[in-house]
Amino acid sequence: MIDRQTIDRILAAVPIEDLVGDYVRLTKRGSNYIGLCPFHSEKTPSFNVSPSRGIYKCFGCGKGGNAVSFLMEIEQLNFIDAIKRLAKRAGIQIEEREETEAERQQRTEHESLMLLLEWAENYYQKSLTDSTEGKVAGLGYLTERGVTAETIAKFGLGYSPAGGHAMSQAALQAGYSASFLQRVGLVTERNGELYDRFRERVMFPIRSVSGRPIGFGGRALRTDGKLAKYINSPEGEIYHKSETLFGLSLAKRAIAQQDRCFLVEGYLDVIQLHQRGLENVVASSGTSLTTEQTRLIGRFTKNVVLLYDGDSAGIKAAERGADLLLAEGINVSIVLLPEGQDPDDFAKAHTLAEIQDFVEDNRKDFIHFKAANRLKAGKGDPAQLAKLAQDVVKSIALIPDGITRALYIQEAARQFSLSEELLTAEVSKQRGQKPLIARPKNPDTPSAEAPTDAAAEGEAGSPEVEPKAKNPFYVQERELASMLLRYGTENIQIAEDDGSGVQSVRLADYMAAEFAVDGITFTDPLLRRLYDGYQQQLAEGAPDPQQALLSGLDPELTSLCIDLTTDRYTLSKRWFQGGKVVDLSHDDLSLNAQQVVLTFKWDILSQELASKREELKNPELTSQEVDERMHQIQDLSQVLCRLSELTKRI
Ligand SMILES: [Zn+2]
Repeated sequence: MIDRQTIDRILAAVPIEDLVGDYVRLTKRGSNYIGLCPFHSEKTPSFNVSPSRGIYKCFGCGKGGNAVSFLMEIEQLNFIDAIKRLAKRAGIQIEEREETEAERQQRTEHESLMLLLEWAENYYQKSLTDSTEGKVAGLGYLTERGVTAETIAKFGLGYSPAGGHAMSQAALQAGYSASFLQRVGLVTERNGELYDRFRERVMFPIRSVSGRPIGFGGRALRTDGKLAKYINSPEGEIYHKSETLFGLSLAKRAIAQQDRCFLVEGYLDVIQLHQRGLENVVASSGTSLTTEQTRLIGRFTKNVVLLYDGDSAGIKAAERGADLLLAEGINVSIVLLPEGQDPDDFAKAHTLAEIQDFVEDNRKDFIHFKAANRLKAGKGDPAQLAKLAQDVVKSIALIPDGITRALYIQEAARQFSLSEELLTAEVSKQRGQKPLIARPKNPDTPSAEAPTDAAAEGEAGSPEVEPKAKNPFYVQERELASMLLRYGTENIQIAEDDGSGVQSVRLADYMAAEFAVDGITFTDPLLRRLYDGYQQQLAEGAPDPQQALLSGLDPELTSLCIDLTTDRYTLSKRWFQGGKVVDLSHDDLSLNAQQVVLTFKWDILSQELASKREELKNPELTSQEVDERMHQIQDLSQVLCRLSELTKRI
């Protein structure tokens, strides 16, 4: 464990512009630097570095963070390794904090399980290369498939001996306990006896993103009807198959550099393509793709190419995976190999240049591919065609970005000769979009309507807000968070309740008190984490909580914090369209803070009131429950009334 102080010292000692300057040519622009973004391809620079705040932010692709996140991203390092690298650069000795007993025990156990898996990888490797059985059966098979010794070493391939006890006995002799062997899924127990799970199989280590073995896939060498061709380690404390991609630790760098990831089905597909020099390729570990896996890919690139066998089973599998990827906002294209050839065969038969040419010539945008595929299927049958168009609509509807969806709708309308309006309506239906959510309105309080509109519209031209537009409070919460980050430590003037005078209070404290008195908080989980994080920093005496969050250890928060405090994020001016339009700038901080906070409260509580009223309509409520609701409604109405008064007074 590296303590917080050390991390702060390291961050302070490495000027962000120096670090970034090693990778990007930076030009001074005012107090900041600007350059071409290393994370996406661009011709005009939109990559900003701010030395005073110790952060970078790309206005093209949205990536942003501090020195640690920059190094993690560009070098594909984990957090600890990035910190160590920075410390070395700054010439700072890392002091490790002493662990608590519970932490130590947990880490020790986890580490022991990891060490056991490393031992097993080693054991299987030795069985492959050093034992007669392994050489004949395992090595024989791999050689026949054209896998070179270099590739075997690179992927750590191995062999599990026949019999059923060889590995477990060796492990026990090496000092590993039977219970640990069970916990990592290397053995099963029958009638008090341990059996090796993997027997007479070629072993493929499955690795974490950082490259440590966390499980195994084993391929049978005997063809026996009863024998599964592949078996994998079972789910457990260490191995979570839905969150793991085979080959990712070796592919991640190439994926990030080329901004593209090939997705194939099998272990050998990955291995053969790698051997040919195509390194940005992963497989979904012998299961169909999961949402967690698509997110994992999304951390490295937003472009995925499915590389599948051109037979109908291959196409079906590709389509299932594609929909999950589309839903994560990933651009999906597909390359179908000549029928009957999987990537493994294809790679063996061609050179890297041939593979690359084939990919470029045959790569089709997935939705275009699907549409063409359906058009062919429904040729000459209009009724059938309408049904098949629906199928395409389903995939389009999954895409989170509205503009991309619109483009695909346009294209699909042309392909199917259907009207764009019709397809747009279908897509909206699939997305479950209703007309803009009508929020409860109170005719006495006009001030509440403006934020309603602002929330429902989202912010035009600000795509990151769009997916959340369903939460009616999202825009307001973003603005509250932005205000807190910028001005939280400044004092504002609040009129005393009885009108007797004015008191001076820190903006962050004012917000906290106002929220606490009615028990409300942010509804968006990430913004709530940001809010709580800020208040906690403040409570712990951080002089500049914003800076603390920026240099913090939670990359999601750092990134959000940057978004909300850079000049591109301007506070909305639409808060009080009904009455006065308020420019939410620093000049009127006292006034603005109160209006923003009180309006937010009013909106949240109005919704609560509406839902209580709705509950009253339920005929099954007992009379006691009805009473309860009536009381709550009365209370809420009173609070809302007072809030209206207050807003009028400001
Ligand atoms: Zn960028």
